[in-house]
Formats: sequence, structure tokens, C-alpha cells
Amino acid sequence: MTEIPKSHPRYLSLVTRERLVEMMRRGIVSEAGLIAHGRGEAFDYLIGEKSNDFAIKSEKAAVATMLLAERPVISVNGNAAALSGKEIIGLGEILNAKIEVNLFHRTEDRVKKIVEYLESLGGRNILGPDPDARIPGLDHARALCHKEGIYSADVVLVPLEDGDRAQALKNMGKTVITIDLNPISRTARASDITIVDNIIRAIPNMISFSKDMKNLSIDDLKKVVKSYDNADILKEALNAISENAINEWETQNRK
Ligand code: ATP
Ligand code: MG
Repeated sequence: MTEIPKSHPRYLSLVTRERLVEMMRRGIVSEAGLIAHGRGEAFDYLIGEKSNDFAIKSEKAAVATMLLAERPVISVNGNAAALSGKEIIGLGEILNAKIEVNLFHRTEDRVKKIVEYLESLGGRNILGPDPDARIPGLDHARALCHKEGIYSADVVLVPLEDGDRAQALKNMGKTVITIDLNPISRTARASDITIVDNIIRAIPNMISFSKDMKNLSIDDLKKVVKSYDNADILKEALNAISENAINEWETQNRK
């Protein structure tokens, strides 16, 4: 692995890239996953590489929705496992959510490698290999899933998901929560709750909110969900992106 000096202004971003490259070599992240990460990074730059107010609101609404769910499931792909595997397992435990490895570029070998990786981090009963159900409306490999996991879930958290698959899950009548740095992606628009934040920050935030919100009454959780409006959140995220871009331009031109 390339040594990156801690003093580098983009240290975290560079370390994250190295981590993904390494995980690709281990067969956990797909090649296309690296490109998807690049798109994410560009948007992260534009939102200021921090958890903005709009993200915090979505993260709280997501936790409330998952606490109210009967069969919550967290869908994990290569990038999500590589970037936040340990935290996803922790979140699944707090929220009583099942974890299912579900890949856009599905190969049974990669599914197994990701399951083994999550198990090495302490994950148990992770679904993925030997799928026994299909998401209607998707072509073969992309549709495969588990009856006792995604197929029968009422709420699914699908970080870094593809737009088609998010829409297909919506069409099944599920509540779809996504983590996606691009507020205008099809996934962001198709989902009920879109967390416009880096998964690296979003999952730890959700863990800390879950610890407090677990003690709220059902009525109070319902209030959090009811007061949430995803279209407003996406608009806030887009406003922040344009304001940041203009401020950046003005700061640089003042120098
Ligand atoms: P869509 O199909 O939904 O219109 P897309 O084709 O851009 O969007 P993909 O490339 O399939 O989506 O998936 C990558 C998505 O995940 C991108 O929208 C990207 O912004 C987002 N993303 C990538 N890395 C991260 C990350 N670390 N945290 C959060 N989101 C990320
Ligand atoms: Mg896509």
C-alpha cells in the first residue's frame, strides 16, 4: 500500500482511495465500484465533506423508520462493506436489522468474499449466498435476493444503490432509505429517505442517533418520520452545493 503522509490536506480522501483499491485487489470491491466512488467524492467535495443539517435530518428520520419497521434489512455491496463494514454490523445489531449482501455486479464468488469479510469483522447470520427470491422487474443476476431478507423486508437501507434497483424495491411497496452523495441521482429521487452524506460519516451518525432514539416512544418516532420531507431535503442539499461552489469561487478570487 502506498504510504500517505498524515500532513497531506486530503489525507482522509487518499487513505479511503487506497482502501478501496486494496479491497478491489482482494475481490471485495468491483472495478466499477472504484468509478462509483469517484462520483461520490466529487459530490462530497461540493457538500463540504461534512454531515450537513440536511444529512442529520435524514439520518434521524432513517433511524426512526428502521426502529418502527417490522422487518428492516440493510443491503450491503462491495463499496459499503469496504468503507463501513464494521459500522454496518454495529448498526444492524442496534436496530435489529438483517444484513444481506446484494450486488449490482453480482458474482457468487464476490458475494461469498464479502460475507466472509463481514464475518471476520464480527458479523453473524449474514444473508447473500444461495439466493432464493427475485426482485420483480430486474434482469437476472441483479434481481437475486433472499426471501427472509430483502424480499420480505418492509424497510430497506440500500447505501450507494443503483437507481433501477432502488425503483424496483419501491415498486414492491417497500420503504427505501438510501445513502447517496448525489442528490440528483435516480436513487436519490426514487427513495423515501435520501441521506446525502458520505457513508463513512452517515453510518456512525446513525449508530449514535439509534442509541438515543431507541428510548423514544412509538408516537415520538412516528412524529420524526411524519415531519420528514425528502423533496425538501434534496432541495437543501442542492442549495448547499451551489452556495459552496459560489463561495469557493469568491474566496479564491479575493486572494
Ligand atoms: P443512479 O443510477 O441512481 O442515477 P448512478 O448511476 O450515479 O446513479 P451508481 O454509479 O450506480 O449511481 O452508484 C454510485 C452512487 O453512489 C453515486 O450516486 C455516488 O454519488 C454514490 N456514492 C459513491 N460513493 C459514496 C460514498 N462513499 N458515500 C455515499 N455515496 C456514495
Ligand atoms: Mg446507476
